[in-house]
Amino acid sequence: MADEIQAGCFGRLFRRKAAPRQCVEFVPPVGKPTSKHTSTEKPRDEEETDDVHYFSPCCDFSYGPAREWWSAQDSLPPYTSELSISSCDDKDIAYVIEKKLDEANSGLRQLSLEIHDNPELMFQERYAHDILTKYMSDNGFKVTKHYLGLETAWRAEYTQGVGGRVIGVNSEMDALPGIGHACGHNLIAIAGVGVAIALRAALRAQPHVSGTVVLLGTPAEEGGGGKAILLERGAYKGMDICIMCHPSPGAPRTTSVGSSNAMQSLKVEYFGHSAHAGSAPWEGTNALDAAFIAYSSISMLRQQMKPDHRVHGIVEGKNWAANVIPDYAHMRWIARAPTSADLIPFVKRVQNCLQAAALATGCKIKLTPEYTYFDLHQNPVLAQGFADIVGSRYGLATTTQNTSASTDFGNVTYALPALHPAFAIPTQPNGGNHTAAFADAARGEAAHEAVMTVTKGLALTGYRVLTDSQFFSRVQASFEQSKLTKDIPDL
Ligand SMILES: [Zn+2]
Ligand SMILES: [Zn+2]
Repeated sequence: MADEIQAGCFGRLFRRKAAPRQCVEFVPPVGKPTSKHTSTEKPRDEEETDDVHYFSPCCDFSYGPAREWWSAQDSLPPYTSELSISSCDDKDIAYVIEKKLDEANSGLRQLSLEIHDNPELMFQERYAHDILTKYMSDNGFKVTKHYLGLETAWRAEYTQGVGGRVIGVNSEMDALPGIGHACGHNLIAIAGVGVAIALRAALRAQPHVSGTVVLLGTPAEEGGGGKAILLERGAYKGMDICIMCHPSPGAPRTTSVGSSNAMQSLKVEYFGHSAHAGSAPWEGTNALDAAFIAYSSISMLRQQMKPDHRVHGIVEGKNWAANVIPDYAHMRWIARAPTSADLIPFVKRVQNCLQAAALATGCKIKLTPEYTYFDLHQNPVLAQGFADIVGSRYGLATTTQNTSASTDFGNVTYALPALHPAFAIPTQPNGGNHTAAFADAARGEAAHEAVMTVTKGLALTGYRVLTDSQFFSRVQASFEQSKLTKDIPDL
C-alpha cells in the first residue's frame, strides 16, 4: 500500500509569505548617461517620496532571445570605469572601491581559475573552502571555518566602529557532476570576496563610518540548499541586507534583476519484490515498472501544465539485471513554478503521478520531500540602486527578465532585503548554464571582466547602504511592504 505524504512535510513552504507580484513599470537605465543623473534618477530631495516598485515577474518568463546572447566569438571592448561620471554619493569612495578591486584583480582571477580547475560537488567544496578562507584571513577578515556545522561553509567578518549597518555577501563554490563549473560558481565566489574586500577598503578610508561586512561561503547551491540550511541555523541574523550575483547567458553588457522559480525537490523510492524474469515473473513486483509509469505519467502531465512550470527527474537503481525483476527503484524529481502559491498545487499533481505508479504495480512508495527553494524576491530599492550605478558608471543595461531556474538565495530574499543580479558572460549557442560550453565560458577573460564590473557595482550599492540612511530606509520600507501579504494555506 502506498504511504501517504503528510501535509506537514511541506511545512517550510507553507510557512512562507507570498510577496506582492503585481506588474509595474520599471524603466532600467540603459547605456551611458551624459550627465551625473541618469534618466531614471531623481534628485536626492525627491527620493524619499518615491513609491516602492516591485520588479515584475509576470510579464516575461523567457531568458531572452538566444540570438541576442553575447557570443564567445564577439570581440567587444572591455568594461571600463568612467571615473568622471558617478551616480554614487561620494566619488572618492567610489574611486577607493574601484582601485581596491583593480589592485586585487589578478589575485581574484587566480582564485577563480583555481576553483574552476578543481570542481567540487555540493557539500564537498573543501579546496574552495580552504583557499577562500585563507584569502580572507590574509586580507584582514576574522574567519570562521566549517561554519554552523557545515564542513564547507565559512564566515568572514570585518567590523569598523560600533553600531553601524551590516552588509551580508554570499560566495557560492559548488560545481556539477561531470561538467564542472558549468554554472560559473567560481565567478560567484570571487564576486563575494571582491565585494567584501572592497567594502573593507571603503570603511578604512572613512574611519568615522561604522559598519560590518559579513561574507558567507555558502555550499551546495546545486541541490542541497546550503543557504536554506545556513538561514535556518541563524547565519543571516543581524545582516541588514545581503547581496550576491550569478553569471548567465544574455546580451552583451547586461544584467538582470528578475525573479526565479520556486522549487521543490522530491526523493521517491519504489519497493517491489524480485523474481526470476524468465521462469516466474508473476512472482515479482516490479519497481522499475513503477518508475517507468511515474516517468510516463509526469511526461503526460507536462502537456497540461503551464509553460512557466517545470518538472524534471531521473531514475536510478541498484543491482539491476535483465533477468531479474527489479525490487527497488529510486527517482529524483524537481518541480518548479513562479511562486510557492503556484508550486504547492503543482507538486500535488506530480505527487499523484508518483503514487499512481505505486498503485498500478503494487509497489510500496516512500516519498521524501527534500529542499525547498523559494522564488527570488529582489529588493526593488536595492535593484534600482544597483541598476543606476552599473548603468551610469559602467554602461551596463539592467533588465527584469526572469529565469525558470531556481536558487536557494530565494529563501534568503524572504528573510531580509536582498539582491541577486544575473550578469551576462559570452558563450556559445545553446551553451547556457549547466552545459560544458558554459563551463568554458566561466573560465574566460571576458567573463572575468564582467564579474569584476558587477562586483564593483555591488560594492558601491553595499557602501550606499552603509552610509546613506534615506536609501536604507527605503530598502527597509520596501521589504516590510512585501511582508504585508496573506499566508499561503496548507494543502
Ligand atoms: Zn546551476
Ligand atoms: Zn548557479
